[in-house]
Parts: sequence; structure tokens; C-alpha cells
Amino acid sequence: MARLFDPTPEHAALRDMVRRFADEQVRPQAAAHDRAERFNLDLFRQLGDLGLLGVTVAERFGGAELDAVAACIVHEELSAADPGFALAYLAHAILFANNLDKNGDDAQRARILPLACEGKLVGGMAMSEPDAGTDVLGMSTTARREGDEYVLDGAKMWITNGAISDGEVGDVFLVYARMAGAARNELSMFIVEKGMPGFGLGQKIHDKLGMRASPTAELVFDGCRVPEANRVGSEGSAALHMMRNLELERLTLGAMSLGIARRSIEVMNAYARDRKSFGQSLNHFGQVQRHLAESYAEYMAGRSYVYATASEIDIDVPGHRLDSDGVKLYCSTMAKNVADRAIQVLGGYGYVGEYEVERLWRDAKLLEIGGGTLEAHQKNMTRDLSRLDKLR
Ligand SMILES: Cc1cc2nc3c(=O)[nH]c(=O)nc-3n(C[C@H](O)[C@H](O)[C@H](O)COP(=O)(O)OP(=O)(O)OC[C@H]3O[C@@H](n4cnc5c(N)ncnc54)[C@H](O)[C@@H]3O)c2cc1C
Repeated sequence: MARLFDPTPEHAALRDMVRRFADEQVRPQAAAHDRAERFNLDLFRQLGDLGLLGVTVAERFGGAELDAVAACIVHEELSAADPGFALAYLAHAILFANNLDKNGDDAQRARILPLACEGKLVGGMAMSEPDAGTDVLGMSTTARREGDEYVLDGAKMWITNGAISDGEVGDVFLVYARMAGAARNELSMFIVEKGMPGFGLGQKIHDKLGMRASPTAELVFDGCRVPEANRVGSEGSAALHMMRNLELERLTLGAMSLGIARRSIEVMNAYARDRKSFGQSLNHFGQVQRHLAESYAEYMAGRSYVYATASEIDIDVPGHRLDSDGVKLYCSTMAKNVADRAIQVLGGYGYVGEYEVERLWRDAKLLEIGGGTLEAHQKNMTRDLSRLDKLR
């Protein structure tokens, strides 16, 4: 099994390193940052010192140039300690840095990626809008050309890393928009940076159910002027960028689900062993055994699916949508169910913050919505399956 989850000694060493960092530095701050709805920027920058902020980015632009398995390992381990922090990491490392690395030109990569890999810039990706989420091609943010600039108008909603603090917009974003007159699937992508005229923070979103340590914001583009040099790829070509990056996004969100499930099982297992009822440990009772055993089996099934899929994905080439949707469809609900069982096994103690599992349950729910809802995965997978006569 180790060969599936850590196929090379380098993968195993990466897991050890991230797990140690997560146990020592990330878990101890998780509850406080969840409670305060605060992003831990200093801790995030330490991920840059560890070489993790550009995990899949080319080495010549400051990244670690690792594969999809390595990206899953980092997300699984960070999420086992603090899923909210891990979500902010995912938005930066996958939605922003990987996307720019794979789709940008050398001048854009050389100017921005080294700073992003060091943690001097915090990045995000802006696709969803107040009125368009699942129907992302229905977006209404527009771009028009004026001389050697583009002018963007519209708003983006639910953008992770959109705000660094309550009043301060994030540093840099990949923003999807449509040129006037372009067809529904002809999107364009632009690098929008803090300080560009007409770009600002609409609102930092408060009171989320979970993932409260990741900052979420609405971004506003009001005649926002973007230099031509910040257009990524050609006009109208960005739907392909989006689809290509979504596969890695869904896979790493699946890996985050694994972290939530694993930690929930650890907490529930220890509690069921130590807590006595009617003179016996809880794990003596069949109903509790069922919670534990089913959780472990489902977690291992999800883990096997995530790493089997990761080992087949070439990050540069799209074409794994069936399974990148599939891992997220399965693992997100699996993680929520496992966290739910953990709360049940802990009884009243499961319902309060001290034992982590109520936070893990709240965080897990986001994974059924963000990066594509369950229903979107079901729709995509059914379309892909309908083209197949035989399965592998
Ligand atoms: C904490 C958080 C962080 C996020 N981070 C980002 C980010 O960094 N960047 C970004 O661009 N977006 C981000 N999102 C947005 C996220 O991707 C969207 O919320 C998601 O895609 C769903 O879109 P929606 O919220 O507009 O829901 P809707 O699309 O309005 O869907 C509402 C419901 O209707 C269902 N539905 C819609 N269409 C269909 C259909 N055709 N068939 C069946 N059911 C359907 C959906 O499945 C869902 O259950 C984030 C969201 C959250 C909550």
C-alpha cells in the first residue's frame, strides 16, 4: 500500500516533512484561527521556506516541479491539521501558481511566480460570480480592449484569498472574463494585481460555516485597467485553461478530504478506546465498532482512488475529468460522513471545539460545494461515462 500512497522515497520524505510541520505548527493554531475567522499569513509564508508554495511549478520559476501525487500528499497532510489553512494553500498553489505556470508566458512566469513561491505574493483564482457558479460559462464579467490595455467590469464572488485581512484585498488573481461579442465558451484570463486602477475588495465574507481560517471575498472590477502583458494566453482561449486546472483542483480537494477523514478516525479511535460506558470501553460496543470500521474502510477506499488517479495524471495534459470529478464526488461526502460519525462516537464532547471533529465536519461540508458541487460532478461524470462502452 505504501507504494500507492508514497510511490518513491522522495514522496515518502515529502510526507514526513509536511506531516511534522502540520503536527508541530499547523494544528496548534487551527482552532484559534477558525474561531477568529483569521488567515495565518505568517504560517502561510513558512510554506514558502519549505518549498511548498509552488509545489508543481517549474524549478526555473522558483517551484518544486513535483507531480500530482506530491501535490496530493501536501494537501492531505495540511488538511489533517487545519483544512481552512489547507484551502488557502490550495487556492494559491494550485488555482493560482499551477494555473499560471501551465498557461502563462515566460515573462509572466518570471515576474510573478518566484514571488508567489516565496510567499511574498498571495494568489487566488476568480471564476465564480454572484449570479454564476455551476453555470460558470454564464459569467457576466466583461473585458474590452482599449489601446494596449484591457478594461474589466464585473464582480467575482467566493474568492479564496480574495482578502488578506478584513479591509485589505489579496495580492494577485487569475480572473476569467468574456470579451464583448465572444461566444459562451470563449473566455479570456487576466492577471489582476492589487493596486490596479478600478480593482478593489467588495467585501470579505464573514460567518462561513467552515473553512473559516481561509479568507473568502467578493472582488469588484469597475473599469479595471489591466495591461495587455497581463492577458494569459490568447483572447477566448481560457476555457481550456480552466478545465485543465480544474482536474488538479478536484484531485487535491479530494486529497484534502482524506486529511479530514484520517484525523477524524484518529480522534474517534482514541476516544472509543479510552472512554468507558457501562464498565467497558466504547469500542466494545457493536454500534461504535460499526462507526469505526466503516469509516476506516471508506477512508482507505477514497485514499486508494485519490492516489491511483494522481499517479495517472500528467499535470500538463487534460483528459482525466471522469476520475478527478469521481475522487472529489466520493471523498468529499466520505469525509463529511466520517467526521459526522466521529462526533457521534464522542457524544457531547464531539459537539464542542476542543476535540476538533466538529470543526472538521464543518470544514468537510465545503468540499461538497467548492471546486464544483456534487451535482456538477454527477453531471460531468454521466456525460463522460455516456461516451464509454466498456470500463477499464
Ligand atoms: C468557501 C468557498 C470558497 C470558494 N473559493 C472559490 C475560489 O477561490 N474561486 C472561485 O472562482 N470560486 C470559489 N468558490 C465558489 C464555488 O466554486 C461555487 O460556490 C460553486 O461552484 C457553486 O456555485 P454557486 O455557489 O453559485 O451555486 P449554484 O451554481 O447556484 O448552485 C446552487 C445549487 O444548484 C445546483 N445546480 C446548479 N446547476 C445545476 C444543474 N445544472 N443540475 C443540477 N443541479 C444544479 C448546485 O449543484 C447547487 O446544489 C468558493 C465557494 C466557497 C463557499
